[in-house]
Amino acid sequence: MFDSYNENTLQYYPEKCINCLMCTQVCPHGVFTGGGEHVELKRPSSCMECGACAMNCPVQAIEVQSGVGCAWAMIRAALRGKDMDSADCCCNGDSC
Ligand code: SF4
Ligand code: SF4
Repeated sequence: MFDSYNENTLQYYPEKCINCLMCTQVCPHGVFTGGGEHVELKRPSSCMECGACAMNCPVQAIEVQSGVGCAWAMIRAALRGKDMDSADCCCNGDSC
């Protein structure tokens, strides 16, 4: 499971959650899990800040700054056909 850094911009406000489970369906890394009155953050450090959960949450219970930090550096490296060692990461290694 992807887990390349310990800090990210993901914020979850469970008091707003209406338990629609959209975030559990769209998250590619299983960060959220259902089963209770509202979803829980199961693997927050696995978030790669793609933004899918926040975009699909109907009540803005999730905030994440997509397109920043290591996730964006990895996407750019992949698009350029380079490995992560050559990616220009803007976090200067603080959160990689
Ligand atoms: S931003 Fe992407 S990886 Fe992070 S929790 Fe949301 S859907 Fe999952
Ligand atoms: S998408 Fe939003 S409202 Fe739906 S389960 Fe996830 S956090 Fe709750």
